[in-house]
Amino acid sequence: MGRHVIMIGAGIVGLTAAKELALKGIDVEVFDAKERVGDGAEKASGIFSMSGLGRIGIDPKHSILNTLDGAVLQAGKERLRVKAKRPMAYVVDRAVLAELCMEAAISAGAKVTLGKKIGKERMRELANDENSIIVGADGAVSTVAAVFGFPAIKEYVLTYKAEYRNAKIEDSRMAGLFFSNDIAYRFFGWTCPYSSDVVELGIGISDRAKITSTAAFSKFVGSGMLGGLLDGAEKVNGYASIIPLTSRSRTVKGNVMLVGDAAGQVKATTGGGIIFGCSCAKILANAVHNNIHKGSKLELYEKEWRGRYSLDLKLHSFLHDYYSNLRVSNFEVFLKLSKLLGAEEFFSRYGDMDRPSLMLKRFFLRGLVE
Ligand SMILES: Cc1cc2nc3c(=O)[nH]c(=O)nc-3n(C[C@H](O)[C@H](O)[C@H](O)COP(=O)(O)OP(=O)(O)OC[C@H]3O[C@@H](n4cnc5c(N)ncnc54)[C@H](O)[C@@H]3O)c2cc1C
Repeated sequence: MGRHVIMIGAGIVGLTAAKELALKGIDVEVFDAKERVGDGAEKASGIFSMSGLGRIGIDPKHSILNTLDGAVLQAGKERLRVKAKRPMAYVVDRAVLAELCMEAAISAGAKVTLGKKIGKERMRELANDENSIIVGADGAVSTVAAVFGFPAIKEYVLTYKAEYRNAKIEDSRMAGLFFSNDIAYRFFGWTCPYSSDVVELGIGISDRAKITSTAAFSKFVGSGMLGGLLDGAEKVNGYASIIPLTSRSRTVKGNVMLVGDAAGQVKATTGGGIIFGCSCAKILANAVHNNIHKGSKLELYEKEWRGRYSLDLKLHSFLHDYYSNLRVSNFEVFLKLSKLLGAEEFFSRYGDMDRPSLMLKRFFLRGLVE
């Protein structure tokens, strides 16, 4: 067998990387421990900026549950409402999106094997074959990263989310973000409407917190922050999961590469990892193609993805560090001041959920011409 790629993990990022590799004519096989692609997808949310969803490179229309115009940020009694004139984001059924990504990967020529967990010993054997390139797309707690000694992720967010039916939703086109370091330590609670009466409620807390995400969730529900949203509503499920908050300082070692949550390619402000992960998957496919056909180093992947996205990831980390260190009373003042300084208008006009650097660029360019 010639040079080929073994992808460990058939999440959305692994499948996107496999599709991109196959489109370049590279022999790629994806393995996943799950029996069905999309199993476990309900543990995460599916809020994507419209432009970002377009970048995954599939037609997502069958996966869309709802459209959002903006979000209300709340701390204590203060609220900041960011509502754009045009729709900003889609709420997507993650299991359907994963199936669409799998279909796209298979039609591009990738081989996908489900129900096959790759153990540590097998990972080492695979990497010993000099014709193999191993890609760890195995999620937040990556075994590939552990086995091959990649640097650690420094902070994780522990999450719990649940779906409620018959909820009293004020505006089904607005998400809600709730900041309180007493309840959602170093992260936030959220509401995401799926329809006029079905809402997802979730919470994230830093792994440095001294309670579980389930306990934090109960505290959130009982806190009074949600007003009458859940009056008479019925909880239909509940899932705990984990999000990496920092990227690894190295993502290529010999013939082993990491992508997506395994690499920590995640926005620290919100924990969203699909758009950056899939964008990095495309860079990975280029680097592998150039390695096989032009003899260039696989390390170019690392250089390229950091060159393109590290400023944005750093801006997300900077904003996260800032808000996660505020007490509720200070956060209230911060929201009040932001309103006075015109933040509602600013974000409605220039807001970019994924790339704050582009938001600032648009702002300064407009400033020059207006
Ligand atoms: C509560 C919550 C809400 C979120 N909301 C959003 C959001 O709104 N927008 C957004 O962009 N992102 C969101 N995220 C983050 C997003 O879910 C992740 O960034 C994304 O799933 C990462 O994709 P991935 O393909 O890298 O990894 P995963 O989706 O984690 O896929 C990894 C795959 O690897 C497989 N695997 C692991 N080990 C092995 C092994 N040894 N052998 C074989 N297979 C293996 C697993 O079965 C799994 O299928 C959220 C996350 C959570 C927890």
